[in-house]
Amino acid sequence: MTGSTLQACSACTACDLATTRQTVVISRGNPKADLMLIGEAPGAQEDAQGIPFVGRSGRALDQLLRDVDLDPEHDIYICNAIKCRPPNNRRPKKAELAACRAWLDLQLEAVHPKVIVLTGATAVEAILGIKGGMTQLRGQWQSWNGRSVMPIFHPSYLLRNPSKAVGAPLDLTRQDLDAVRRRLCER
Ligand code: SF4
Repeated sequence: MTGSTLQACSACTACDLATTRQTVVISRGNPKADLMLIGEAPGAQEDAQGIPFVGRSGRALDQLLRDVDLDPEHDIYICNAIKCRPPNNRRPKKAELAACRAWLDLQLEAVHPKVIVLTGATAVEAILGIKGGMTQLRGQWQSWNGRSVMPIFHPSYLLRNPSKAVGAPLDLTRQDLDAVRRRLCER
């Protein structure tokens, strides 16, 4: 996104979330990366700092990326389907996702990623239009506009399910991200 687009996004009032947010949370990471991760919406810490995936969820995500040799600063561009925090971290409404889609499309156009990771059911529904449980969706390659798309569990879900056992959500997510890294190497 260009400077003027970023400025416009930072001042967006296209939906009601503009009245309750502190900051518009646009992205972090490398806008020239081949890999883009899309989550659901900013939480309290993201809203306060204006950066997506900070706090415990963000640290968990960064560790998982490092576990599979992906650098969170250089190898990935990270954003959310919704740029403003929904009150009390409720799920974004359909109208809010629709209102914010134009910004996400601009990000997709600007970054032009080869591979997309979707974290959590809201991101999967927003991009792929598929509804379902992440237990079924995760780890299954999908295709969207010619790009490879990998749904994974949301880091906040992994924090609530911290088992390190083989086959537990944490292990499965590491496997999914390793498949993403290998797909990036194939291209
Ligand atoms: S959530 Fe998106 S559409 Fe709504 S005010 Fe924030 S940036 Fe604008």
